[in-house]
Amino acid sequence: MPAAIVTGSARGIGRAIALRFAADGYDVVLNYRTSEQAAEETASSVEERTDRAAVAVRADVSGDGAETLVDRAVDEFGGVDHVVNNAGIEEARPTADLPTADFDRVMDNNVNSAYAVSRAAAPHLRRSTAETPSITNLSSFVALVGYAEEAHYVASKAAILGLTKSLAVEFAPDVRVNAIAPGHIETDMTDQSRVAENEATVPLGRYGHVDEIADAAAYLRDASYVTGETLRVDGGVTLG
Ligand code: NAP
Repeated sequence: MPAAIVTGSARGIGRAIALRFAADGYDVVLNYRTSEQAAEETASSVEERTDRAAVAVRADVSGDGAETLVDRAVDEFGGVDHVVNNAGIEEARPTADLPTADFDRVMDNNVNSAYAVSRAAAPHLRRSTAETPSITNLSSFVALVGYAEEAHYVASKAAILGLTKSLAVEFAPDVRVNAIAPGHIETDMTDQSRVAENEATVPLGRYGHVDEIADAAAYLRDASYVTGETLRVDGGVTLG
């Protein structure tokens, strides 16, 4: 049976992607760092709503946890066919108040994690018998336009785009690598005090739903002639 790893999938966008992949016929390896209860609930939801299996793996994928996660996926399901590097953190902070250690922490969680999981999974993806094995990385619309008081987060999401294009070339023709750049999506990451202000900047006039990002992830998983691409799913917020 085909299997997919979705990092940071206890809640939010990662949870929606895991549920979508299971509905599409994939066993899923869920991943969390602290949200154990939510991860177990997501695993139960997968098994209640679909006929696929789910396992929730505690692993901080910014470090050695990446290898742990991939090893566990191979132990459970015999291989890895798709990876979604979704884990990430966001913090708003003016650059003047941002110690280098905090900049590095955001880079570790948002970029090193995607790099480490991709590196660990690559040999297994290359051995996959799936029609078109893939990696999909979660960037953000902010990587395309910049965002005040989030230079560290924006730098991390822009790095994801460089990583995506570079790995797309390096891992071709065996593994496709793409990115999604979501706009404002309603999740726990959402700053509720800024919803109205943000909605006013979106041509489609609303926040996106996590299932709209899951749709994009399912498309890129199956898009056999698409690699190195960044798919904006942002209600037009980057159109200016
Ligand atoms: P979320 O609700 O905060 O969930 C993020 C998940 O990532 C958390 O469950 C967290 O796990 C996990 N995580 C963070 N660092 C990790 C690490 N080092 N190892 C393992 N897990 C880790 O966020 P979201 O809104 O769904 O966002 C998902 C992705 O989409 C992120 O990469 C984000 O930057 C991107 N994105 C979101 C938006 C938006 O508007 N929401 C817009 C653009 C891009 P624990 O809870 O266990 O710590």
